[in-house]
Amino acid sequence: MLLCADILIEALPAHVEQTVFTYSVPPALAKEIKIGMEVIVPFGKQTRVGYLLRTYRKNEIPENDFKIKAVQAVTGKQGMDETYLKWLAYVSKYYLSSFSQVVTTAIPRRLSTRIRKLVQPLPNAAEFWATLQQRHPDATSMQELGSYLIANTPRWKTLRGTERKFGAPGKKLLSYFQKQGWIEIVEEIKSQASEKTQLSLEFITLPDTASARQRELLQALRHAPKPVLLQDFVKQHNTTPNTLKRLAEAGALQIQETQILRSPLEHVRGEKALQALTSLQQQVMAQVLQHLEHPTGQPILLHGVTGSGKTEIYLHALYQILQRGDTGMFLVPEIGLTSQMLRRCRAVFGHQVAILHSELSTGEYLDEWQRIEKGEARIVLGARSAIFAPLPRLKLIILDEEHENAYKQDSGLRYDARVLALMRMRLTKGQVIFGSATPRIEAYYQAQEKHWHYLSLPTRVHARPMPPVVLVDMRQEQARENFSAVSHPLKRALEETLARKEQAILLLNRRGYSNSWLCRDCGEAVGCPLCSVGLTYHRHEHVLKCHYCDYRIAPPQHCPGCHSEKIQGFGLGTQKLEELLQKLFKGCRTLRMDRDTTTEKNAHSHLLQRFGRGEADILIGTQMVAKGLDFPRVTLVGILAADMALNLPDFRAAERTFQLLTQAAGRAGRSDLEGRIVLQTYAPEHPAIQFALKHDYEGFYNEELLERQDLHYPPFGSLARLLFAHPQHDKTHAVAQRMIQELVERADDDLWVLGPVDAPLEQLQSLYRVHALIKHPEIKRIKPLLRTLLYKYGGQLQRISLDIDPYSML
Ligand code: ADP
Ligand code: ZN
Ligand code: ZN
Repeated sequence: MLLCADILIEALPAHVEQTVFTYSVPPALAKEIKIGMEVIVPFGKQTRVGYLLRTYRKNEIPENDFKIKAVQAVTGKQGMDETYLKWLAYVSKYYLSSFSQVVTTAIPRRLSTRIRKLVQPLPNAAEFWATLQQRHPDATSMQELGSYLIANTPRWKTLRGTERKFGAPGKKLLSYFQKQGWIEIVEEIKSQASEKTQLSLEFITLPDTASARQRELLQALRHAPKPVLLQDFVKQHNTTPNTLKRLAEAGALQIQETQILRSPLEHVRGEKALQALTSLQQQVMAQVLQHLEHPTGQPILLHGVTGSGKTEIYLHALYQILQRGDTGMFLVPEIGLTSQMLRRCRAVFGHQVAILHSELSTGEYLDEWQRIEKGEARIVLGARSAIFAPLPRLKLIILDEEHENAYKQDSGLRYDARVLALMRMRLTKGQVIFGSATPRIEAYYQAQEKHWHYLSLPTRVHARPMPPVVLVDMRQEQARENFSAVSHPLKRALEETLARKEQAILLLNRRGYSNSWLCRDCGEAVGCPLCSVGLTYHRHEHVLKCHYCDYRIAPPQHCPGCHSEKIQGFGLGTQKLEELLQKLFKGCRTLRMDRDTTTEKNAHSHLLQRFGRGEADILIGTQMVAKGLDFPRVTLVGILAADMALNLPDFRAAERTFQLLTQAAGRAGRSDLEGRIVLQTYAPEHPAIQFALKHDYEGFYNEELLERQDLHYPPFGSLARLLFAHPQHDKTHAVAQRMIQELVERADDDLWVLGPVDAPLEQLQSLYRVHALIKHPEIKRIKPLLRTLLYKYGGQLQRISLDIDPYSML
């Protein structure tokens, strides 16, 4: 009988179809090997890292199976449990992505084992030197290569690095060296991130022969709290490592390596333990508890206005999960913006909370990951990718601000953490809670249709009122000859805020590359007559384009609505705004938060901390400022161009505008100080703006839903987006055309394709980009066809990517 194993090979290119291969398991490994484990296997001429998916016995080896190779080794890492693997298999199926790519996304490469080829000079390299002294035609380059290889010994050079450095001639020389027996190519198998260890001391016994001084040291060691690091002990007790070594040799104590955990939370101070819930929160909590106890497989949508105390509900729910001995996950859109959340979690859960996000160092990430695997950290707080945290017994996933696009990954495996959460909890019979003040239209629709449980917190804690919103019609401002980006009412409000020594946030909702063609008189932006999205102005071609259907027109000189001449491209940057403010308000202190100022690690939280400490009076930012901030001294929020997002080439533009305005408004008046909002717009009558003004989610939802229904956008049917990228523009279009044509011919009649057309970001990293939007009442039905076509056409362009449930249309 032969023990066989299906092994998933890690990190194969995305377009490789087969990623699971059969291997035999040698008897020596049979006991050790477990499902989900990381293994080392031969693969072609290489050695690769893989994961064990399943094992089975075969009575005899079929004749054609003589090729079956054996698993080489196990790395001893914990790996994945069966449910987790099953979940990843669903994910791969849902996104039509290879299993290998899913696993590589789930378990970051930096945590997995790395295999490198090294060039190792052999002991008889003396001969090699002798040869080099001779007048060999290549002697000089051999000398160079030889001395490179032995520099810094005993650390060998990598084969890849050497080949890169010496190019094709180097490659030839290397194989010559190898034939001569001067070098050997060896494989190094090594964990990418390593654990940090330090020497620690452990008391064993107090020998009779010990001197008074030794006795003193040993007594101190015996009673010191563990672990006792050698380094610290030496300092504290004024002794030397040698003294301790001698005591170890005498058997009085033991010196050993101890793993030191690098904790990203070490410096986070806890703030406020669990609060007693208000009676409204209690009612909601009672229902949450009921669903936690008897999960129905349906998620909860917690719809609570900004400041209604949703966070408190999340913390209580997680607390209950811990009490039951299970584990929970708390996801937020961007961890950099949630230092407050971090402090709350820390206060309530102490060291039981682990944090995972992309700004952690590799070491920190590895240590947090291990704490989670071992069950030491039972609550994970993190951003999108934390959905893959290996929590055992996971029974609750909370996604705060569920409407945020940041939950969707926009490259590689284009997964949506919200979809993954649902899949994962369905498998473990756990509960998902989606929370938001402005749920996605799709989410609210599910709740309305009773597919999801709906819970609401309609009022703010302590009955703090929603702040009043002042609407400024920028067309009238211009009629009064004010062409500044800051209107008179906003200017007055800022003056008052500064005078009272309170703080203001100014929001400039600008997406760098999209520009609309806007009438300054009637506020109308020129839109596509076919797709109900705004047209985008392309400066170099001087043309307006629709990025869904490729409708194009020359920018009109007169407004199609009111015939005014004041129609032109529109755009304003954060930097310009900062300069303007400093001119308007002498001595006012501003902080700017945008792509330019937040490139460094932890830049978000540093900026926010400074603002929180009152180091600035006005915080200027792009949409990121609107997210989840809670500053008690902010009493004014100004929104400079509320309509910017409305004109984006995206069917969700109105929804995003509504969300943004509502969220931004929620940042004001979060304490006893009274807040207000000033909202500047060229389109005051737009429904998204009107409903935001009245804090009327329901009204907006009803209006938007009709629009979606008319055009078959989600929740009425599902979407996918194909993105074609290649260095040649014409070829990109040609292949896209052919593939879409075949798709249309072979699919059922319910399919509806927009495009292929140039993507809004037409060119990126010297690749031309063409996209097509696919609508279908049930995209599931055409997935097999899409998969076939992706393999068929995938090799013809540099890249064809499929985005299931897309959010980005750029
Ligand atoms: P949301 O997440 O819904 O916007 P938060 O959870 O941030 O709202 O709560 C808003 C404010 O109300 C916070 O300052 C929070 O500390 C406070 N708060 C929430 N629940 C309670 C409670 N039960 N008792 C006292 N204060 C509360
Ligand atoms: Zn007009
Ligand atoms: Zn169009």
